[in-house]
Amino acid sequence: MPSPVRTCVGCRTREPAELLVRMVARDGLVVPDPGRRLPGRGAHLHRDPACLALAERRHALSRALRVPGPLDLSALRELVLGPVAR
Ligand SMILES: [Zn+2]
Repeated sequence: MPSPVRTCVGCRTREPAELLVRMVARDGLVVPDPGRRLPGRGAHLHRDPACLALAERRHALSRALRVPGPLDLSALRELVLGPVAR
């Protein structure tokens, strides 16, 4: 079965969905959905800090997820960048 193609919200490259991390918005929080099981509108991103930075700079996530306000990206950031050293 051919896999669906999705666009990375950071670099805008089209990729098979399994190469990208899916995420959904829930209560203003971006929730990574690696299993691609959560309901609702999803956005896709390479697991790459450069793509995350691009997506943040363009406010691409709130646009892709159709959320008007600011989004909490901490869970996504932790997935892409690893645990943040404080
Ligand atoms: Zn990308």
